[in-house]
Amino acid sequence: METKDKSFRDKISTTGDKGERVWVYADKPKGKLTNYRFLTAIILIVLLFVAPFVKINGNPLILLNFPERYFVFFGTYFWPQDIYILFVLVLSFLVFVLLFTVTFGRIWCGWACPQTIFMEIVFRQIEYLIEGNPHKQKLLDSKPLDFEKFWKKSLKHLIYFAISFLIANAFLSYIIGIESLSKIVTEPPQNHIKGLIAITIFSGIFYFVFAKLREQVCCFFCPYGRLQGVLIDPDSIIVAYDYKRGEPRGNNVNSGDCIDCKQCVKVCPTGIDVRNGSQLECVNCTACIDSCNAVMSRIGKPKGLIRMASENEIQFGKKLRFTPKIIAYMSVFVVLISTVFFLFNNRKSIEATIYRTPGTVYQVNGDSTLSNLFSFKILNKKRENLNIELKLINTDGKLQIMGENPFVLHEGQAMEGRFFVILQKEKVSKQNSKIKIEVLSNGIVESEKEVNFISE
Ligand code: SF4
Ligand code: SF4
Repeated sequence: METKDKSFRDKISTTGDKGERVWVYADKPKGKLTNYRFLTAIILIVLLFVAPFVKINGNPLILLNFPERYFVFFGTYFWPQDIYILFVLVLSFLVFVLLFTVTFGRIWCGWACPQTIFMEIVFRQIEYLIEGNPHKQKLLDSKPLDFEKFWKKSLKHLIYFAISFLIANAFLSYIIGIESLSKIVTEPPQNHIKGLIAITIFSGIFYFVFAKLREQVCCFFCPYGRLQGVLIDPDSIIVAYDYKRGEPRGNNVNSGDCIDCKQCVKVCPTGIDVRNGSQLECVNCTACIDSCNAVMSRIGKPKGLIRMASENEIQFGKKLRFTPKIIAYMSVFVVLISTVFFLFNNRKSIEATIYRTPGTVYQVNGDSTLSNLFSFKILNKKRENLNIELKLINTDGKLQIMGENPFVLHEGQAMEGRFFVILQKEKVSKQNSKIKIEVLSNGIVESEKEVNFISE
């Protein structure tokens, strides 16, 4: 339920009447949930910076190497040929996000999203340290430039840029790998102009996001945030104000528990009033819960006037339940994730293509044999060198590669080549015979290909 006055829906809380930006000066939240949130954030930040150094069997934990078109998840390489597995994996992740959002609302945004974590736990804390509380920040912003304003703003933005630079380095290490990043950082700059340009651009983007855009990212730009309106339903658990208990707000004998102190509004990093009901700008950071709980403790009322609850719980007292929507999302998720496991377990270590070389016909040799020329392309999807061998299997004859057979195919590399299949003339009864070729990797059959052998 919402307040009768719905004018708050007409505009974004951080936009003024003339469309100008209304800067949010949020109070520093304090309380049990804030402590848990800080702890979670610190663990996630450490993981973010440490993960690029973690190796599994010598392979990165996560690498999204877009420039060279391969990805690594938990030490396993995925090549463009594995795109179907990645597609199902991404689809599973999206369904998981939908399922999680339908059930628990936007808790990801407030507790795990890098944007909120860095904004609230790192950048805003630096602002409190240098510029003081929101009242002092406002005063500093409104006064003309003097020595105090100059050094405080310069110091703050210098630190902001330094942290943005660190985040840009971490971000890049997930794309090019920690080894390539170390080379950019340690070797002469002229050897890594592109890398340095990339770091500078990313640092600038992160600085702009955290110094200027801030909560606007969550309110305007984040596609996940924009989806909330369709994902959340009255059974989703959100940060909710218990209007049944709180209204009418005020400070007299007939009032509910809300004393209209507006502490929940002052602490909100997106500048909204949670008492208006479910709003798109709410990132479920839970800061207002801590603030209101502190107020309730002071006035001797039970905590939880603002709490994690569904609209149906507040209105009808219904607890979390498995709605048909949740069950449907869960079923789709189970099917998708099982498909990922199946595809992954059946994934081969090589990808082989064999075909008769276009534009060629059969050759009649002097020794009563016929030969056909074939082309092959083999990709080693593993992070180790493989011994590859091609074998003719269902026909008496010879397979003659132009080069060595078996041959070594280096990790992650593709090789193209040609070979002849030579058969005794009398054994070829048809114009178009099917022959089979096995591709072995380290002595294990990885692929079997059927091709046409043509003759007179
Ligand atoms: S902090 Fe609690 S009591 Fe104060 S205005 Fe918000 S809901 Fe009402
Ligand atoms: S309404 Fe509460 S939970 Fe939502 S963003 Fe504001 S402070 Fe965070």
